[in-house]
Amino acid sequence: MAYDLPDVAELQLLFAQYNSLHFDGQIPSFRIAYNARFSNVAGRITYKPPLIELSPKHLRGKPDDLRETLLHEMIHGWLHARGENSGHTPAFKRKMRELGLKSIYHDLGSAAPLNPSTKRYIARCEKCGMEVLRRRKPPANVVCARDRKPLTIFEITEMREVEPARAAHARR
Ligand SMILES: [Zn+2]
Ligand SMILES: [Zn+2]
Repeated sequence: MAYDLPDVAELQLLFAQYNSLHFDGQIPSFRIAYNARFSNVAGRITYKPPLIELSPKHLRGKPDDLRETLLHEMIHGWLHARGENSGHTPAFKRKMRELGLKSIYHDLGSAAPLNPSTKRYIARCEKCGMEVLRRRKPPANVVCARDRKPLTIFEITEMREVEPARAAHARR
C-alpha cells in the first residue's frame, strides 16, 4: 500500500530541494523517515538526533499534505538552525505565508501544537519500535523490557497532532 507515498530516498531529495529552494540551504541535514506508529500526529521533528518523521497513515495519497507537513517541520528546523525560537512564533508564521502554507490549524495538520517550551523525550527501541514518552530525560542506560536493547533517546520539540477537537480548541 506504499505505492502512493514517496520512498524515504525521495523524501530525502524533497528535503534537499526545499532546503535550497526556500531556506537558502540553511537547514543542517536531517534524516527524514516515516513513522507508522503515529496515531494522531502528522509530523514530528527532533533536533537531537536531527530527525523529521512523517505519518504514512495521514499522508498517504495526499502529496500536498505531505509537502505542507514536511515544509512545516522544516520551518522549525530552519528557525532552530538560526538560533531563533523554533516555536510557532510570528517569524514562523511569516515564513509559512511566504511559502504559501495554510494556517497551522488546517484540517490535516490540525495540530494544536504541544507547548513548544515543554521539553519531552522519547525513548525508542530501534529493534521492536516500542516508544515511551517522558517528560524528563530518561537515564542513558535504559533498555527495552522485551529486547534488553539500549533505547535511543530523542528530544521532541514539537508534535503536530491531527485531532479536530484539539485544533478547534486551539483556534480560539
Ligand atoms: Zn524492543
Ligand atoms: Zn509546528
